[in-house]
Amino acid sequence: FGHKVRRVAESDVELGMLGTDDKVEDLRPRCPVVTVMGHVDHGKTSLLDAIRQADVASGEAGGITQHIGAYQIEVPSGDKITFIDTPGHEAFTEMRARGANVTDIVILVVAADDGIMAQTVEAIRHARAAKVPVIVAVNKIDKPDADPQRVRTELLQHEIVVEDMGGDVQAIDVSALTKQGLDTLLEAIALQAEVLELKANPDRAATGVVIEAKVERGRGSVATVLVQRGTVRTGDVFVAGAEWGRVRALVNDRGEPSESAGPSEPIEVLGLQGTPTAGDDFVVVENESRAREIADYRQRLLREKSATAGARGTVEQMLSAIQSGEADELPLVIKTDVHGSLEAIRATLEKLETSVVKPRILHSAVGGISESDVSLAGASGGIIVGFNVRANPQAREMARRDGMEIRYYSIIYDLIDDVKALLTGMLAPELKEEFLGYAQIRQVFNITKVGKVAGCMVTDGVIKRGCKVRLLRDNVVIHEGSLKTLKRFKDEVREVREGYECGMAFENYDDIREGDQIECFELKEVARTLEQVQQEASAG
Ligand code: GDP
Repeated sequence: FGHKVRRVAESDVELGMLGTDDKVEDLRPRCPVVTVMGHVDHGKTSLLDAIRQADVASGEAGGITQHIGAYQIEVPSGDKITFIDTPGHEAFTEMRARGANVTDIVILVVAADDGIMAQTVEAIRHARAAKVPVIVAVNKIDKPDADPQRVRTELLQHEIVVEDMGGDVQAIDVSALTKQGLDTLLEAIALQAEVLELKANPDRAATGVVIEAKVERGRGSVATVLVQRGTVRTGDVFVAGAEWGRVRALVNDRGEPSESAGPSEPIEVLGLQGTPTAGDDFVVVENESRAREIADYRQRLLREKSATAGARGTVEQMLSAIQSGEADELPLVIKTDVHGSLEAIRATLEKLETSVVKPRILHSAVGGISESDVSLAGASGGIIVGFNVRANPQAREMARRDGMEIRYYSIIYDLIDDVKALLTGMLAPELKEEFLGYAQIRQVFNITKVGKVAGCMVTDGVIKRGCKVRLLRDNVVIHEGSLKTLKRFKDEVREVREGYECGMAFENYDDIREGDQIECFELKEVARTLEQVQQEASAG
């Protein structure tokens, strides 16, 4: 009939929502957005407070008083800087995992009397994974035992070379307490921002990211939005994640009503129909029906997703991305029990040269798998590998919630083989051993002639007689073997389920302690080898 056929998809409702790309000549400089990270108690919160007070624009109007999740200050030179007010890398990584890269510069706070600690290293990894430049704030230099030089030297081990040592990372000595060095730190930020040449077009419909959202009595759903492009005004209709609304009022970080907010400006938005989530996008659209349509579609998507949650792990997603040629690297987080095995695994993996896909080690360290490891891997779409270590309960729960897979190994060759197979996109996630359950040692009894017996509570799954067991202390495997006895009261039993107590003893091993965990598993025949998978693939 002379009509042209066009294929449509449900997701077409989002088409064109972001408008057109900005022309270079429309771009104007915008101020940097900064996140503060570092180890607990090194002074992140104190530093953010001190900087808030350093704002020159405050004057009589009163300072930045509202905690809306982000604030903007003006430095003596007239430059402005926006700070995200939730310190720590959890928030940073959560946002990144949701696709929101809002941070331009990371301030890494390190206490001069304490040096580089675990979370300092984590923060460095997170910043690097996000490819965001770092400025080091060596804090607490007012303390008598402060040793800022030691901090600089220690940073070298983590591939951060500060300027005084010939590198390109700025390190500034500060004290959040006496405010010493604050101005220098702010200048350093301005300098770094200049290098980055941050720009955005202010004259267009606004897009941005939700930094924080909550329901407040009398105000309804309130979201703090960081504008990234364009300018938001009262009356604008917008979509925020799976919610929509019409801007009823805008409130700035000083608690004052505002008519509009431009690029890099944090602003509280009132007038939402529901509460979005931190990290959601914020997009001004042309009218209400468009906003409703997009929000409806996204809510449907969310419902469908929660209905099938867990059905697809990251390993599967990774595999399909590799097979379809979308991915050219396999991001990995590797945790091991000792340095020796870590070195061996790293060295072997770095040498792996498979066709196009290469392993990319986001983080590798000795110790149990933590929530930070899970979020780091999640944000980069990578997988987590544990060699003789286990995830702590919080990390396990988080991985389960996010549908991510943690793979455990106790033989280096198995690990390398699996990674190799993953790199070629061929190996289906098939475990070689079947996990049965966990038990917690509550008490250790010394019984003559028998030796040590562990009084346990089964916390997860089931423990079976004759199965293989591992003894875990602080999430590290310290022994692997088999069970000698499995008893309920005085009787030997076949299995004990979750929520029941039992007595266990190991074959030829009795260094057991209260608080240790026993992991129980069965060895399964390897279901599919690489060749089998290849055969299947060529047959199908
Ligand atoms: P956060 O956990 O990184 O947010 O650390 P906080 O900002 O809560 O600071 C932890 C502790 O260190 C608090 O007791 C602060 O008073 C103290 N502190 C922070 N900065 C300084 C500083 O520059 N000098 C001294 N002496 N103490 C500081």
